[in-house]
Amino acid sequence: MPMEHRHGTQKRKIIEVNMKVRYGFVSNSSSTSFICEVCNRTEVGWDSGSVTDYDMVTCINEHTFCTEHLVADQKVKPSREVPESACPICSYIDMSYCDIKRYFLQTTPYTIEEVFVGIKAINKRRKKVYDNEYVEYVLKAKNITSDDLLNELKNKYPKYPDFMSSLRG
Ligand SMILES: [Zn+2]
Ligand SMILES: [Zn+2]
Repeated sequence: MPMEHRHGTQKRKIIEVNMKVRYGFVSNSSSTSFICEVCNRTEVGWDSGSVTDYDMVTCINEHTFCTEHLVADQKVKPSREVPESACPICSYIDMSYCDIKRYFLQTTPYTIEEVFVGIKAINKRRKKVYDNEYVEYVLKAKNITSDDLLNELKNKYPKYPDFMSSLRG
């Protein structure tokens, strides 16, 4: 997924969200899927919809998440312009498994393959490692909590977009 092209139209955003999800699905071409980056709730529709049909919103930095994760004192109407202050990911309150996976792949020696070996040992049918599985594995291996990690990132990158640009390397 070319994450550097994050500045497209809304239509483009929806397509990117679909592709992110399709990765994990055997789906036919007419389905539309949305995944919450915070809790992994996934919704699949059979004709084109938008995130707001599934109680989800997208922030200005293109994080997609359930409305229930909106920052508590920053309730906003479901819209396409959720500001950073209302996004739990941009506010370092919750983590995006997708972003953190990329961060760990770049900054730690832990590989997807190594996590996959462990998963395969338990369930031979598994075909891939989910982002959250990889992230949880690395957190455990580093012996830190998600809060420790979020604090580390916040110190390193006071503004979330700075973190995002570091991921583009
Ligand atoms: Zn969610
Ligand atoms: Zn965000």
